[in-house]
Amino acid sequence: MAQYDYDLFVIGAGSGGVRAARLAAMSGAKVAIAEEHRVGGTCVIRGCVPKKFMVYASEFAHHFKTSKSYGWSVEGARFDWPAFLEEKDKEIARLSGIYVRNLQNAGAELAHGKARLADAHTVEIEKIGARTADKILIATGGRPWMPRDLPGVEFAITSNEAFHLPQLPRRIVIAGGGYIAVEFAGIFNGLGVEVTLVHRGPNLLRGFDDDVRSHLAEELEKRGITVVLATQHTAIEKTPSGLVSKFADGHERESDVVMFCLGREPYVEGLGLEKAGVKLTDEGAVAVDDYSRSNVENIWAVGDVTDRINLTPVAIREGQAFAESEFLGRPTRFDHEMVASAVFSQPPIGSVGLSEADARKRYGKVDIYLARLKPMKYAFHGDERALLKLVVDAASEKVIGCHVVGPDAPEMIQMAAIAMKMGVTKSQWDATCAVHPTLAEELVTMREKHVPMSLGQVA
Ligand SMILES: Cc1cc2nc3c(=O)[nH]c(=O)nc-3n(C[C@H](O)[C@H](O)[C@H](O)COP(=O)(O)OP(=O)(O)OC[C@H]3O[C@@H](n4cnc5c(N)ncnc54)[C@H](O)[C@@H]3O)c2cc1C
Repeated sequence: MAQYDYDLFVIGAGSGGVRAARLAAMSGAKVAIAEEHRVGGTCVIRGCVPKKFMVYASEFAHHFKTSKSYGWSVEGARFDWPAFLEEKDKEIARLSGIYVRNLQNAGAELAHGKARLADAHTVEIEKIGARTADKILIATGGRPWMPRDLPGVEFAITSNEAFHLPQLPRRIVIAGGGYIAVEFAGIFNGLGVEVTLVHRGPNLLRGFDDDVRSHLAEELEKRGITVVLATQHTAIEKTPSGLVSKFADGHERESDVVMFCLGREPYVEGLGLEKAGVKLTDEGAVAVDDYSRSNVENIWAVGDVTDRINLTPVAIREGQAFAESEFLGRPTRFDHEMVASAVFSQPPIGSVGLSEADARKRYGKVDIYLARLKPMKYAFHGDERALLKLVVDAASEKVIGCHVVGPDAPEMIQMAAIAMKMGVTKSQWDATCAVHPTLAEELVTMREKHVPMSLGQVA
């Protein structure tokens, strides 16, 4: 049998790579993991974690407004961007350090530098040299996609830079309609920045339930965000007073920062995949089977670089399934059905299962239960509304979609996902006694089927 330096070489120390490397090393395998930037990957360094801190920071503005109606006086409240950045960066450094220690404690070797494949068993690491491995795991994640040919694109930032702006802008134009765009729109709006959110599609959050999409767009506008749909940038021009965004519909908008959140692409550039014969999908992701194995027998890939469901817990579970299959003797594939997700927009969204449109396509007849109401928290002030929606397969009576927009929706959806993963029916769901007074109780008290306006008029 051929002799290799390692049993496993992992490229990329983010969510998926770190989980796989740790588990494999703990099983007694000789493991190395390469990282070109900072250990922790997108989630810890420039994704979920710093983003959530920014959401928390920005939510205070809304709390302060609401607090007045509860009798509080909060005049003179001020936000200090550099002070916030310092605290955030300290915590990110602490978390990254924990990841490094966990890898070391498990016995995995950390190699700092960009790694590329030289052949199916050889990895070249910048400034370190070539190492061989029996098995190789690609866990290099994704990166922001940019329209490289757009005039003035060099003036735009992405989410990577948004975490380190030297100062808060007065005005920002955010281009994009995905979850990262709406989250940053809420963040900057909460921090007092004038926000324009521009998206080329007919509505935000493609892929989410249509009621959720239109509800969120209305709520964002109530919070003061200008939402412009059905157009896109044709150019960005720098002027003495700022950046002028030019749009396809002819209008222009000046701002201090232009941020592009136009999607992410698998990070495969310079990886040498062609040298090892690893195939990509038409969209440029590493093509893998249900066990995350590529077309090359000893090379696997997990996480965003495979472009399946691009979320941290999914990357972790794919990395875990790989390590269990290859190093713990338990062939395991991660089931990508019923993965719950959250959008930390303001108000936030929790969603699991199918949208109404997708459910109708897959199951034909579905029953819809829907409630729109003013959350109790805002009883004294404002006109914010929450949305709760269940999609039920009429034949099996299983709950196949649950969508919530409103306070604490991300916390609620984790619990709903447990029941739905177990195949809960609507009558079992309804047998659950409410927790009162909560917004979540509305989920178990919706008894009347919702008839969409157009169908109701016909009936
Ligand atoms: C702004 C933002 C907010 C997000 N918010 C959420 C959220 O709220 N919830 C959620 O679940 N997900 C969220 N995500 C998505 C989440 O961060 C990713 O799904 C997750 O990090 C993917 O993990 P991964 O292991 O595939 O890749 P990553 O975490 O991206 O890790 C890949 C690592 O590989 C390294 N690398 C790449 N190429 C090489 C190379 N050739 N050599 C050495 N090292 C290399 C990179 O530097 C990186 O550290 C967010 C993403 C962004 C950008």
